[in-house]
Amino acid sequence: MVIADESVLLQREMMNALERNEFRLYYQPKVNLETGKIDGVEALTRWEHPEKGLIPPIEFIPIAEKTGFIIPMGEWVLKNACSQNKEWINAGFSPMVMSVNLSVRQLYQPNLVDVVQGILKETELPPEYLELEITESMMMDKDRALDGIKGLRRLGVQISLDDFGTGYSSLHYLHDFPIDKIKIDQSFIRNCTSDLNNATIVKMIIAMAHHLKIKAVAEGIETKDELIFLQKNSCNHGQGYFFSMPLPPEELINCFHLIEQIVSQEGISQEIAN
Ligand code: C2E
Ligand code: MG
Ligand code: MG
Ligand code: MG
Repeated sequence: MVIADESVLLQREMMNALERNEFRLYYQPKVNLETGKIDGVEALTRWEHPEKGLIPPIEFIPIAEKTGFIIPMGEWVLKNACSQNKEWINAGFSPMVMSVNLSVRQLYQPNLVDVVQGILKETELPPEYLELEITESMMMDKDRALDGIKGLRRLGVQISLDDFGTGYSSLHYLHDFPIDKIKIDQSFIRNCTSDLNNATIVKMIIAMAHHLKIKAVAEGIETKDELIFLQKNSCNHGQGYFFSMPLPPEELINCFHLIEQIVSQEGISQEIAN
C-alpha cells in the first residue's frame, strides 16, 4: 500500500519535473578496447528531486514507461545528449559516439524518425555520432520495432542491442534486425574470469557478433582481469566502473585523460593483452 502511494506520488511529481528542469544526464565513457581511447559515452538519466535527492532510473523509468511520460522525457534526453555531444565536438574533443537509451514505447512511435531527424538538425550533430540503445526483451511487436529501427538506420544513426542475452529470443533479433552493436549484459561479464560458464557465453557472443559483422560491447567491467579477458577475446568496446562511473558532463571531461591513462597502465596495450 505504501509502495503504491509512493509510486502514485512520484508519477504526479514527474509531470512537473521536466518543466522544473529536474532531470540530469550523467555520462559513462565507453572505451575502444583496441585503441584504449574513449570513443563514446552513454547518457544515463537521473532525477534530482528537490526533497528526495538523486533518484536512479530504475525507480522512475518503469513508471514513466507505464504512464507514457517516457515520450516527452525521452525527447528531452535525446535533445540534451545530442546537444552535449555537439558541444564537446565544438570544444575540440575528438568526436565521440553518444549512446542514448530508447524505450520501446518511443521505438513504436510512428513519428520517432521525424523526431530524431529534427533533433539532429537542430543540434547540428552528424548522425554517425548518435547511437540508440534498445533493450531486446522489450520488443514484443517485432514488425513495429523493425520499422522503427530501419527508419533510424536510414538516417545514419547506429543501433545497439542492450542487455544482450537476457531476452526471450535474442537470436531471432540478431537474425532479423539490422543492428550495429550488441551489448553483452553485465550479468555475463560479472565473474567471467572465474565462472567458466560465463566465460564461455561471453566468448561465444563475441564470436557470433563478429561472424555477423556486428561489434561487441561489454557492459559492467569492474576489474582489470575482466578487461584483459575481454581484450584477449577481441571484444570491441567496454564500459564499466573499472573505467568510470557515470558522471556529470563537467566531471567526465575533467577525468578523460586520467581514465585513458589508467587504461594504458592497466594492460590494455597489445603487449600485455597478447
Ligand atoms: P543500461 O542501459 O543497461 O545501463 C547500464 C547500467 O549499468 C547503468 O545503470 C550504469 O550506471 C550501470 N553500470 C555501468 N557500469 C557498471 C558496473 O561496472 N557495475 C555495475 N554494477 N553497474 C554498472 P543506471 O544508470 O542506473 O541505469 C539503469 C537502466 O535505466 C539503464 O540500463 C537503462 O535501461 C535505463 N535508463 C537510464 N537512463 C535512461 C533513459 O534516459 N531512457 C531510458 N529509456 N532508459 C534509461
Ligand atoms: Mg544502455
Ligand atoms: Mg545494459
Ligand atoms: Mg537496459
